[in-house]
Amino acid sequence: MKKKDLDKYEKLLLAKRAELLEELGLLQKSGQSTLKDAAGEISSYSTHMADQGTDSFEREKSFQLASKSGRFLHHIDEALLRIKDKTYGKCQECGKQISTARLEAVPHARFCIQCKEKEEIRKAQQSR
Ligand SMILES: [Zn+2]
Repeated sequence: MKKKDLDKYEKLLLAKRAELLEELGLLQKSGQSTLKDAAGEISSYSTHMADQGTDSFEREKSFQLASKSGRFLHHIDEALLRIKDKTYGKCQECGKQISTARLEAVPHARFCIQCKEKEEIRKAQQSR
């Protein structure tokens, strides 16, 4: 993949990454809050919740969201690493180039559409 294209996908990934961090509460839209501030808020919040001993359902829900977003963040970070070592855009299953359309829709894609479909079928069969 050309340097110019790698740069383009890197930008896409970094934008998605910023979005996710915002969702996880690690990055404030205002740009004024620091990471330290956010952590302070989280710790005082959880102390408060522990005192009350209620709303555990609400807390579980937010943890689920955090873990889902956390996994997504991990995939994005891995894709950024692949951009750095120039293996980005190659299917990790068959080694073929992943289509541009697919990378634009899913910039953190690890597999080409054919391998992804095979994976989906395999997963569906396992869960039966
Ligand atoms: Zn493939």
